[in-house]
Amino acid sequence: MSKQAQILVIYTGGTIGMVQDSESGALKAFDFKHLTAQIPEIKKFGFHIDSISFDPIIDSSNMHPEVWVRLAKIIEEKYEQYDGFVILHGSDTMAFTASALSFMLENLSKPVILTGSQLPIGMIRTDGKENFITSLEIAAAKRDDGTSLVPEVCIYFEYQLYRGNRTHKFNAEHFEAFRSVNYPVLARAGVEIKYNFEAIHKPMHQEFRILTQLDPHVAVLTLFPGITREVVSAVLNIEGVKAVVMATYGSGNAPTHDWFLEELEAAIKKGVIVYNVTQCKGGSVKMGKYETSVGLQKIGVVSGYDITLEAAVTKLMYLLGNDYPQDRIRKYLKTSLRGEITV
Ligand code: ASP
Repeated sequence: MSKQAQILVIYTGGTIGMVQDSESGALKAFDFKHLTAQIPEIKKFGFHIDSISFDPIIDSSNMHPEVWVRLAKIIEEKYEQYDGFVILHGSDTMAFTASALSFMLENLSKPVILTGSQLPIGMIRTDGKENFITSLEIAAAKRDDGTSLVPEVCIYFEYQLYRGNRTHKFNAEHFEAFRSVNYPVLARAGVEIKYNFEAIHKPMHQEFRILTQLDPHVAVLTLFPGITREVVSAVLNIEGVKAVVMATYGSGNAPTHDWFLEELEAAIKKGVIVYNVTQCKGGSVKMGKYETSVGLQKIGVVSGYDITLEAAVTKLMYLLGNDYPQDRIRKYLKTSLRGEITV
């Protein structure tokens, strides 16, 4: 039998980490030092599992780029020692963290699986145990040649494994909380875990490294019928803002009013990047398809194709943080760096 798999679990917080106190019955934070005592089933895997718990643990609504840097640094430090990583995280901003890490971890050849739950792990009907146990199994899964089956940043939730930077949280109550509309599911867990090998990244052979410079000077401008010039102008002219994700209609459409295009053009001329991302959860921006996006194309708005809002925001933070010249950033925004867009 091959060497026992070594898995590192990093617990950041979120609903999953709650168990019932055996005496009082109250929900309290899970003690990760005694992981196998809490979930004895995991001993049957025969993996070696270590854990790191954040102190304090956080509700993921308080997630911040500094925490992404901390996670990337832990993974870098422990990269050689472990075969895979499982990050326990609140579901609210999990898609942002997964997207950010996908850009920050370059040449990844090991699995980084984010999971969490809608009900605490200590509750009888919890979805947390299955999410956690299957994530461990996926993090340890290898091919015959010893390479990891899923060498990418993923979210595992409710029997489905997704490419992290393709997901969004779409339901606040259902156990099936995530969707990846524009990219196929990487694996489905039933009686067996069925991997969709065609859709999964191949392991990288270049040296693994992390990129930890993130620039948060990004804003989001969501269009709606009746949006005023004042609102558009205020967002585009926020002091220090370097890029604006513009959430447009349908296949990347926006009003054709002169004032609207004038505001955008002035901001772009000042050096602000305007990134066109559709408000639709499925499908792609196709600038030039309708008259209502021809003007955007002419003034230099950049197409986000089928990128999620989560991946758009974090990709911009990552590219701006790396201090690339603007033409390179614009080129990379239209290029799939980690499988986040279909061009
Ligand atoms: N508010 C929680 C969080 O995102 C919800 C969850 O854990 O799913 O941290």
